[in-house]
Amino acid sequence: MILITGGAGYIGSHTVKYLLNNGHECLIFDNFVYGHKEAALTKFIQGDLNDKESLEKVFKEYKIDAVVHFAAYAYVGESVENPQKYYENNLVGTFNLLNIMIANNVKKIVFSSTCASYGNAEYLPIDEKHPLNPINPYGKTKLMVEKIMEDYHTAYGLKYIALKYFNASGASKDGSIGESHNPETHLIPLVLKAIKGDIESITVFGTDYDTPDGTCIRDYIHVDDLATAHKLALEKLDDFNGVINLGTGTGVSVKEIIDSAIKVTGVEPKIIYGQKRKGDPAILVANNSLAKEVLGWNINNSDIDNIIETAWNWESNKLF
Ligand code: UDP
Repeated sequence: MILITGGAGYIGSHTVKYLLNNGHECLIFDNFVYGHKEAALTKFIQGDLNDKESLEKVFKEYKIDAVVHFAAYAYVGESVENPQKYYENNLVGTFNLLNIMIANNVKKIVFSSTCASYGNAEYLPIDEKHPLNPINPYGKTKLMVEKIMEDYHTAYGLKYIALKYFNASGASKDGSIGESHNPETHLIPLVLKAIKGDIESITVFGTDYDTPDGTCIRDYIHVDDLATAHKLALEKLDDFNGVINLGTGTGVSVKEIIDSAIKVTGVEPKIIYGQKRKGDPAILVANNSLAKEVLGWNINNSDIDNIIETAWNWESNKLF
């Protein structure tokens, strides 16, 4: 059985769905602070990583073969305002999880990390050898966990892969699960909400970046492509331990996202050209060679129009 912490969250639920469809038994552990009960697609335990007793109980009661660890807070701005919340949950919570895993002889983990652990790009595309200088507490907690896992690998034989996502996006094709953050801060759902009329307008954060159209460029990767990478990573833990980037290797600008959303929906939202958001680098794009080489990863869903189509299908018929 695979324990999926944060399995009721955005990327977690899509990964659970894929693992279940491919014959894996999963058990979700989620505190449902940001996760949704409707997104828990299999048996779940409501619990917190900082409640060591209930976490310990899970490992005693179930035969856990491996852990896929998503559970974390992920609002970059909030992590700057309230770092304690992030160090407590993302760092201490994960520290508890790793220690309980080792104590119970569970030594396989796939960890949900982020390109935010690199900080500002010193060169592009960003490979795994890029310097690690996260500029916010969120990115720091993820990097600290990577360092702990590295030491636990050496000392205790922990087998780990940290997957560094670039911009997770899109939704399940069948419309059963998708992105549902409250508050929502991400570009694609906000553009679609503006198109739907749920919010008045979409603000483009900055138009004078050093990019071809002046708006920020990111590497948008469909959540179903992230899901397949987690299964591949679980299968490779005996052969590879370390960090792997997950992105398409192609950059898409804010303007291009809005253009695709207009094309897919046939509706033009009200657009406000606003100020830069603090801490936003101009361009973030992944070098994904290692994922292809080590995991044999293929990207099948991340064409930008497909990302927008699936996200629109979800946004229009949202279940939670
Ligand atoms: N962005 C924007 N307006 C918004 C939200 C985001 O222009 O209302 C831009 C943001 O500056 C960034 C890109 O869209 O360049 C993606 O932002 P998002 O928050 O989705 O992901 P991030 O790259 O920050 O993880």
